[in-house]
Amino acid sequence: MARFSGATWKPIAINHKKGGQDSVQGVVVHIMAGTLPGTDSWFRNPKAQASSHFGTGKDGRLWQWVDTADRAWAQAGGNRTWLSIENEGEGGDALTSAQMDRCAEVLAWAHKTHGVPLQVASSPSGRGLGYHAMGGKAWGSHPLCPGSRIIAQLPEIVKRAKALIGEKPKPSGYEPFPGAAWFKKNPRSPVVTAMGKRLVAVGCSAYQSGPGPQWTDADKASYAKWQRKNGYRGIDADGWPGKATWDALKVPRTS
Ligand SMILES: [Zn+2]
Repeated sequence: MARFSGATWKPIAINHKKGGQDSVQGVVVHIMAGTLPGTDSWFRNPKAQASSHFGTGKDGRLWQWVDTADRAWAQAGGNRTWLSIENEGEGGDALTSAQMDRCAEVLAWAHKTHGVPLQVASSPSGRGLGYHAMGGKAWGSHPLCPGSRIIAQLPEIVKRAKALIGEKPKPSGYEPFPGAAWFKKNPRSPVVTAMGKRLVAVGCSAYQSGPGPQWTDADKASYAKWQRKNGYRGIDADGWPGKATWDALKVPRTS
């Protein structure tokens, strides 16, 4: 039995297969083409022959209709090995930020409970956060579910799920701008050395001291000259690189 405590439990007695979830490759995102309460009553109608594990409302409500040990009927051939989340809205809508948060919570929970990797899936053989249309004919031919605007939001949902489980985004390969005040306190830092190397590489050829843990008055004068020549005057002409120059330099990480 697997129910997400972050969702309101709204069990349905029909339209799913007890114990039918063979495995969990990921979570499939859908658009309801309707409202959350409307979808809820449809799933209780024997004519529907349809259901999903989860559903979101535009206002941020999250409901769970089917236990993830059981098979919901949301994407035909993909039901056996994928969980499903329906989202309130019409075809062509984007998800609200609250809906993205709820989808991220379901994905993070599926990661912890079923080992779903926190990544976007784009085919039935993949794993992670997928979408209905990717299944093609085998998944019932729904090319417009959930629509291109929502498909474009999937990376953001994955990012939010990673934040929920405390996985930090990988730092870039470059030193972030340390700030003008920092330079004055740390003129001998390895970061300053790395910056000096980059300045030489981009043509600040008069860089007096060469790469090294120092930033002398001669270096500053040379740098100020280079700044003026390259149109940075007024941005950071105090003798130290400002943020604009720093970002342009792309100083490699020193740690
Ligand atoms: Zn769908």
